[in-house]
Amino acid sequence: MTDLQTFDVIVVGGGHAGVEAAAAAARMGAVTALVTHRFETIGEMSCNPAIGGLGKGHLVREIDALDGLMGRVIDQAGIQFRVLNRSKGPAVQGPRAQADRVLYKQAMQAAIQSQVGLHVISEPVDDVIMQGDQCCGVITASGASYTAGAVVLTTGTFLRGVIHQGTKRTPAGRIGEKPAVKLAERLYDTGLRMGRLKTGTPARLFKDSINWEILEEQPGDTPPEPFSFLTDSITVPQISCHITHTNETTHEIIANNLDQAPIYSGQIESVGPRYCPSIEDKIVRFKERTAHQVFLEPEGLTSDLVYPNGLSTSLPEEVQAAFLRSMKGLEDTVIAQAGYAIEYDYVDPRELSAGLEVKSIKGLFLAGQINGTTGYEEAGAQGLIAGINAALKASGAEDPFKISRADGYIGVMIDDLVSRGVSEPYRMFTSRAEYRLRLRADNADQRLTGLGDGLGVVGAERAKMFHVKQAAITKGIELLKSLSLTPNEAADHGISIKKDGRRRSGFDLLSYKEVSFAQLAGIWPELDELDPGTVEQVGIEARYAVYLERQAADIASLRKDEALKIPPGFSYHGIPGLSTELQLKLTEQAPETLAQASKIDGMTPAALMLILAHVKRGAHSGARDRADAAG
Ligand code: FAD
Repeated sequence: MTDLQTFDVIVVGGGHAGVEAAAAAARMGAVTALVTHRFETIGEMSCNPAIGGLGKGHLVREIDALDGLMGRVIDQAGIQFRVLNRSKGPAVQGPRAQADRVLYKQAMQAAIQSQVGLHVISEPVDDVIMQGDQCCGVITASGASYTAGAVVLTTGTFLRGVIHQGTKRTPAGRIGEKPAVKLAERLYDTGLRMGRLKTGTPARLFKDSINWEILEEQPGDTPPEPFSFLTDSITVPQISCHITHTNETTHEIIANNLDQAPIYSGQIESVGPRYCPSIEDKIVRFKERTAHQVFLEPEGLTSDLVYPNGLSTSLPEEVQAAFLRSMKGLEDTVIAQAGYAIEYDYVDPRELSAGLEVKSIKGLFLAGQINGTTGYEEAGAQGLIAGINAALKASGAEDPFKISRADGYIGVMIDDLVSRGVSEPYRMFTSRAEYRLRLRADNADQRLTGLGDGLGVVGAERAKMFHVKQAAITKGIELLKSLSLTPNEAADHGISIKKDGRRRSGFDLLSYKEVSFAQLAGIWPELDELDPGTVEQVGIEARYAVYLERQAADIASLRKDEALKIPPGFSYHGIPGLSTELQLKLTEQAPETLAQASKIDGMTPAALMLILAHVKRGAHSGARDRADAAG
């Protein structure tokens, strides 16, 4: 029982991290308070109205596998679903959905309201209550104290947030909302290492001020593929997006006004997301490009606003209007809300343990943008883990819950954050994972739902569904493995494989691109009893089995060579297949061993294999010596 002043867990902030943290803690059985500025802003999408994408879509599926909210909510609010990279293998495909902002908020608020054991308090938090090195509650702006066994801070961009629009600066957490200044000062006082980062958002345009007829249409997938393993089908009406481009005139207008852009005038000194740069940043960094693609994304089914994805900017409003009107279809466009950049405080995530607890303050957990990440999905995934661990802490458990790098993108992200820190807002990419053939969006439930069920964070409905699905897949694989053919028998059925006399099981045969499940069912009618979902999953498992073995061998070989010394002055330039970005980072940071190279932000297993091969060959150090001598 609670007197509503004392809780097991208190979560501060009802953004994407906060809702997952609060709901997860409550699912774990902790009596939880979500203390946030306003109930009405729960589920607010501060920037783009979309969930998922490459790497990010994997995170959403993992959140869903642990019974989190994001996947279920976007399935109730998505107005255009697309699987990115569909033509490539399942490991690098990214589910993405355009959201109706209003529907998203409504569905998220309903999910929070219906969560048993979760109480929402609408007030700003100004302070944390400390007893020695233990955090045991919060104090709100009205002076009310709430105590708890563990506290999770998920304050997003609000800590000493400042909005920049041209030379205009406004203290704000996001547009129209006050920043959290006292709480930020309190965190500085605790001695935590902190810094400042920035992010930005484009202008919003009135829908009826765009000439849609002359623009290229981009429809979504039919049928739309849901995010959640619990959703059968999407029932929200679907819409198209449209595509336009910047052009040389657009670039000229921006270039001529760079002195008014806070990131170039010196007004903003903090670092923004490299992979989601502002349009002024793109014009400066990619001078050779004469056009950049811009997606015009409706903000909802009934909204009269459009989000021009790719045009984040902090230039003055009149410059924004001028460059927008230089683009095809936007000749007469009217700005409803000008774009802006925001600078805010973050805590160096190396201050945190792998369970997202502050190492020096027991019972205090941090999740989301406060840890130097960017994106709803990254925030949600951290919130989920922090919420689980806060509930464990409050219940007196000794060990935190962790996901390993081999089991999930969530594990990759948290390990990256707490061991390497951030030098720019961190976002997820598939290339950050060394086990990405295993970490697919399609099998997130197989990797994580069992773990979550054991922990108590997965509800009964999902647990039941998962066990039924899992049993069907296991049975399907066993059935396929029990059936086999020699190459000659296979040839009799029109399947051509190497004539090596070796029998191959149905599972082996399914790993060949040319062999379909229908062909095998023609040979072995008992396979017809497998349902379509099981057939699809078993097919993917079969296709990846060989590669997974190869990946395991590569990883073992890398581990063996971790101590390999990289000669001083080794040149990374011109190594075929090594990205320019990694060539630059390696040259700058000059790692002494392969193990050090593996810790560089953005390093991939494939890139490490390339470096390993070239160091062993020694070819490039020789080339560098010759170049130096010539220079
Ligand atoms: P938020 O979603 O910001 O939520 C924070 C919550 O905490 C809010 O509900 C707030 O009311 C509450 N809160 C804060 N302080 C207190 C307090 N003291 N007391 C009580 N409640 C408090 N991401 C991208 O991936 N790409 C982008 O291009 C991008 N651009 C962005 C542009 C802008 C202008 C902004 C503001 C954000 C942008 N983001 C972008 C980031 C994305 O919005 C965040 O990564 C994501 O919302 C972070 O989730 P969060 O839960 O950490 O914080």
